[in-house]
Amino acid sequence: MVKQKINPNINDPIENLYIHVPYCHQKCGYCDYYSVVKSPDYDLFLSGIKKEWEMTKSYIQKHNNRLAPLKTLYFGGGTPSILPPKILKNIIVFFEQEIGFDPQIEMTLEVNPEPQGQETVVAGIESGINRISLGFQAQQDELLKKIGRIHLFQDFLEMLTLIRKNRLENISCDLMFALPDQTLADVLKSAQTLIDLDIPHVSFYSLDLEENTPFYKKYHQSPELLPSTAEEREMYYQLLKIFEKNTYHYYELSSVAKNNLYSRHNTNYWSTRPYLGLGPSAHSYFNGIRKGNIRSIKAWLDDPWQNAEFETIDLELAMREYAMLVFRQAKGFSVKEFENRFRIKNPFELELESLIKQKLIIQDQTENRYYLSKQGLDFANLVFMEFL
Ligand code: SF4
Repeated sequence: MVKQKINPNINDPIENLYIHVPYCHQKCGYCDYYSVVKSPDYDLFLSGIKKEWEMTKSYIQKHNNRLAPLKTLYFGGGTPSILPPKILKNIIVFFEQEIGFDPQIEMTLEVNPEPQGQETVVAGIESGINRISLGFQAQQDELLKKIGRIHLFQDFLEMLTLIRKNRLENISCDLMFALPDQTLADVLKSAQTLIDLDIPHVSFYSLDLEENTPFYKKYHQSPELLPSTAEEREMYYQLLKIFEKNTYHYYELSSVAKNNLYSRHNTNYWSTRPYLGLGPSAHSYFNGIRKGNIRSIKAWLDDPWQNAEFETIDLELAMREYAMLVFRQAKGFSVKEFENRFRIKNPFELELESLIKQKLIIQDQTENRYYLSKQGLDFANLVFMEFL
């Protein structure tokens, strides 16, 4: 009897965990991540994380999914550095006891450069945090104010000094471009600042107008107040150029790194392997199922499973998602890697041929590998849509 092919995610070990911390000191004008600014109850949040974990663990046991010592643990948000030090420590110790940590675990904390977070950062490093994603966005204080950040460039420098004083070097910074009134010179100055500070990993994003944000209301009807698409593209290319010139390796549409300090947590997302996400609005993907938690602390606390949404990712969809996600990465789509993962002959010959004809991808015939072309970088969405 021929064994039926299934989404390989079902049998992969689960070894990556994301915790969503849904609190911020202030909402930034462009931000659509789920977070609240009023009356945080951190003890209740901690008990919610533990409750969701207990329910998740029962599901994992019932379905015989493989749980392995964590290779990555990521605190995102929101503002994880807002957590009181003892709550952060408690969560880390809890999961070390419950799941265990791989000796090489990458443990990331997103940090906003606000003085209130300093104690939490030090406590986090003492408890095993070995990678920090530090909010930067831009070097110019006027731009930071315009987008609603409460930190200034000086606060960023102070937090960076504190992190390095505690001997943590694996630091990532977010840089934003195509902001209102931001010029190409501003963007390049921000990039140069990160280069001069020897930040080993940078993620750079252009402003996206998300519905239900103050920025959407303000700029959707007046796009002339934002850099044009041509200017936005120029900023992107100049960023790639300046980072590559300074020994950074472009490895994903929005990410560059040097000294091999790639984000292992994000790379796992782009591999279609399992991850758990705990906390309101967090997403999980394991046992071939995607779980999306509700964007409400109260409803999540009430029942983090009943109040979540579920989607089954069958083999067909898993293969399509895989193709979309590998094209995000500089390594591109390798026929051999695809066939090893899915144990199926590459079913995308027609799609790949069509994308080559449209000059959106190029083929390396020796390696039988496909990458985004320069045009494909501009129209990456068209490439992804080909696999939908
Ligand atoms: S600090 Fe981060 S998560 Fe909070 S509102 Fe600003 S961008 Fe969003």
